[in-house]
Amino acid sequence: MLIKPDTPAPPCSDDPELWFVDDGTIGHARVKPELLAEMIQEAKDGCAVCDLREKCLDYALARNEYGIWGGTTWDERRRLRRRTRRPSHVA
Ligand code: SF4
Repeated sequence: MLIKPDTPAPPCSDDPELWFVDDGTIGHARVKPELLAEMIQEAKDGCAVCDLREKCLDYALARNEYGIWGGTTWDERRRLRRRTRRPSHVA
């Protein structure tokens, strides 16, 4: 997803649709609920060994991208954003 010509291909380049499965679909097909968590984990496992993980997460956080980026789902990034936006309670 953030591929430069001199960078080895990231794991998501082998099966890009898997990285967008967190909305419950792959292509136009609905994923069986019992398979969804397993597929999301498979994508996250690919991100876990990717050299671009940190930059990828920053990119997705800044742009509100859907799909699995930097080892996080859209929903996980939404929670991360909320946490960082909370006002601090300074006395
Ligand atoms: S961190 Fe994940 S989504 Fe981002 S480039 Fe690497 S494998 Fe792809």
